Amino acid sequence: MADRPRFGPAGVPAAFREKKAVLADVPKLLHDEGLDAFEYPAVRWGAKPQIKRENAKELSLKAGENDIWLSLHGSYFMNFCGEKEVVEASKNRLIACATAAEWMKAHVVVFHPGFYGKRTSKEALEDCSEALADVAEKMKMLGIEKVKLGPEIMGRLSQFGGLDEILSLCEEVEQTQPVIDWAHIHARDRGRLKTVDDFRKVVEEIEKRLGTDALMNMHCHFAKIEFTEKGEKRHHTINETEYGPDFTLLARVIAEFELKPVIISESPILDVDAIKMRDILREELKS
Ligand SMILES: [Zn+2]
Repeated sequence: MADRPRFGPAGVPAAFREKKAVLADVPKLLHDEGLDAFEYPAVRWGAKPQIKRENAKELSLKAGENDIWLSLHGSYFMNFCGEKEVVEASKNRLIACATAAEWMKAHVVVFHPGFYGKRTSKEALEDCSEALADVAEKMKMLGIEKVKLGPEIMGRLSQFGGLDEILSLCEEVEQTQPVIDWAHIHARDRGRLKTVDDFRKVVEEIEKRLGTDALMNMHCHFAKIEFTEKGEKRHHTINETEYGPDFTLLARVIAEFELKPVIISESPILDVDAIKMRDILREELKS
């Protein structure tokens, strides 16, 4: 569990890529910016880890030296409530991601659980629970014990993954941790997060369902978001006042409950907005 609120980008920031930084340089560059988390993007992976074990270990080593908390965002190509072959392929992809996460000592593998298709919420939940229980079992057999599976709250109404569904999944399957994507909650419920109390209700729900530890150590995604009646449309930067949600409101709740979340910036300007959010929280903790 994180020792304090931590901030970092989802993937390698553009400025680092312009400097021709390699993966092993990323932890130091983040540390130099005063950031302390990094979500490694494995979003296009197939059935095998697409990072060499030695490179994953090197990232882990550098992350340790620079006090960077690692997570891994799994492949987008997964659906645990689809047809049988799709679910089987998805299980293999998730296991590949968990294997690489273990190599790099990442704490959680974030993933998108799937699409309803013709299934009801209840049917999709049953399918996801069953598939993930298999994945958790396989991880145990492989000796992957420290990595958590992190189903993410999703922003589109066609996607399985409302707050209630993700909490249910985490109640049912071992070795899981919900990934609280605030932008997705906002988009899915078309503008739900407007006041401090709207945020408070979400954290209280997490605590009620999964307990205080789960609440204290949330793994979060944050960005501003544009949505339509179908939910998520696109992410925006923190400075774009016409879009929500407002990070200041979450910062107040973090301060009030003394939470220690890991907050991954999914803004179009990844690290720049991670720094802004860190500073907003610092101000909030002072007052
Ligand atoms: Zn995601």
